[in-house]
Amino acid sequence: MQLIDIGVNLTNPSFASQRQAVLDRAYAAGVSQLVVTGTSVEGSEQALQACLELDESALRLFSTAGIHPHSASDWTGESEKQLHALLKEKRVRAVGECGLDFNRDFSPRPQQEKVLEAHLALAVELQLPVFLHERDANQRLLEILRDYRDRLPAAVVHCFTGEQKALFSYLDLDLHIGITGWICDERRGTHLHPLVRNIPRGRLMLESDAPYLLPRTLRPKPKNGRNEPAYLPEVLREVALHRGESLEDLAEHSSACAQAFFLLPKLPEGNK
Ligand SMILES: [Zn+2]
Repeated sequence: MQLIDIGVNLTNPSFASQRQAVLDRAYAAGVSQLVVTGTSVEGSEQALQACLELDESALRLFSTAGIHPHSASDWTGESEKQLHALLKEKRVRAVGECGLDFNRDFSPRPQQEKVLEAHLALAVELQLPVFLHERDANQRLLEILRDYRDRLPAAVVHCFTGEQKALFSYLDLDLHIGITGWICDERRGTHLHPLVRNIPRGRLMLESDAPYLLPRTLRPKPKNGRNEPAYLPEVLREVALHRGESLEDLAEHSSACAQAFFLLPKLPEGNK
């Protein structure tokens, strides 16, 4: 069984000296390909560097390049040029993480919107898929995306945590949906249980968002409380349960979806 983690924050300092060990545990758990999330210009450069250093085969590790809405205030005239150069690199497979976060409002909303539009313009120009973040900003994200959607090859709302109306609005725009261990959280994720059935095959992908979002159903609980891509099978288990699918079936179609979305290479047989 093969899984693909479409969102891991491998450059997070909590993984610092252990990145190879984290990857080895992921591979041993069946997570055979990973997309490392870039959340700033510097972080996106580090994400690309990690892919090059930790995967010489160029088959397993890929990255995104973008600026998280929390950091939209950091956007300068240089940012677009720097991101453009990164997005031309072969290992960089999507524009993002970018989007709108009206939950924490770490950057002013007009600035978040401006920076999101700059990312969407890059994705249109370079014909790359988009890795989107949205919290409490469903309506504005839809309004902005509508102007770009037919010129974008694809876009995923990563770590979807919203309600049915938001989910359906994204599916209506033919977006992809990323599901994390949020669905394993008995305090705030149970509304996702009946919802995940509504995501069509070919639009659903799985992600750890590690080191964040340790699946709360995981047993035994890791002592350090830190999430790792090796725990992605727990997200698979929970999503499969609520979709009424076998683990093998969900692993198969969500991985095929991720490979098509990020244009990932097929792993040679026996190399999984
Ligand atoms: Zn996010």
